[in-house]
Formats: sequence, C-alpha cells, structure tokens
Amino acid sequence: MGEMELEAAVMIPPEQRPGDLDAVWLVVVEPDGAIRDVLWAADLPADAPAGDALPSLRDIVVLDEHYPVVAALASGLFRAARWPFTVLVRRDDSSVAVWAEDDLADVREDGLVRGGVDVRLGNSHILALVRHCGFQQDGARCGDSQTFVERPLIPVSCANRQGLAPHDFVW
Ligand SMILES: [Zn+2]
Repeated sequence: MGEMELEAAVMIPPEQRPGDLDAVWLVVVEPDGAIRDVLWAADLPADAPAGDALPSLRDIVVLDEHYPVVAALASGLFRAARWPFTVLVRRDDSSVAVWAEDDLADVREDGLVRGGVDVRLGNSHILALVRHCGFQQDGARCGDSQTFVERPLIPVSCANRQGLAPHDFVW
C-alpha cells in the first residue's frame, strides 16, 4: 500500500465534535468499533457532533494495510462496492488512512498492478464492506451504515438510527 496515495484520517466517536482535528478525513466509529462513515473533514462543521453529519452514502471498503492490492481489487467485495467508493486502510487498532478519489480511480482503471509489481498491503486478510442502507420513506433515505463481510443472502435488519419505519437493510 506504500505506493498508493493514502490520505490522513482520524477516527472519531459519533458524539465528538471535530474541532480543529488535523485530518483530511474523519472516520466515524461507533463505541462497538463499527465504522459508521468516512467523511471529508472539510465538509463537517467543527462544532457539531460528527455523528450528526449527513451520511456520505458511499460504500466503504475496509482493508488491512498488509492486504495485497491485487487481491483486494479482484475480491468480490471490491467488485460489489458501488463506485465511487472509499477505501479505508487499517494500519492498526488506532491508526487508519483513506485511499480515494483520483488515485484509487487510476489504479482501478490501470488494471490492478502499479509499476509492474503487486503492491502489497501485507498478509492479513481483513476485508469488509461498509454500506449505507438504501431504504427510502417519504423521500428520506435511511443511509444508516452496516458492515458486511459478504453480500447477505438473507435479509438483515437495519439499525435504522433515523427512526424510519422498521425495515430490513436495503443493499
Ligand atoms: Zn435502513
């Protein structure tokens, strides 16, 4: 992952206000460790809880930094993610980075290998997809997020934090 243009990201609990955190990206993480969203820090008011921000509605592919890029790009979850998506790279339990926008787009288009070598994110195999629920009610989209390790074969319930009508997660 070293050759990828990773951008600085800071993990933040939903109730925390970003204040003057020095990060390009904010990763909103629930108390249980679930990733709620990855947000462009400049889009957020500094003085409101990060969890109150409008959801990005972008799919988030979660990778360990030691995961090989080629394997990631060829994986079912990467292909299941809706473009444009965001890649969240876990360095360890407390450190993350974001891979997104033009550099990610280039690598997707260039066909997986940069500089003739399979750039490795390493050898662990954390790979998950955070997706925002597509349920709609009266023109409002649920947008709540949930982490998947594969596309669910049976319906799963949505946490529905906006309190819309109870529903299953809409993939
Ligand atoms: Zn929902």
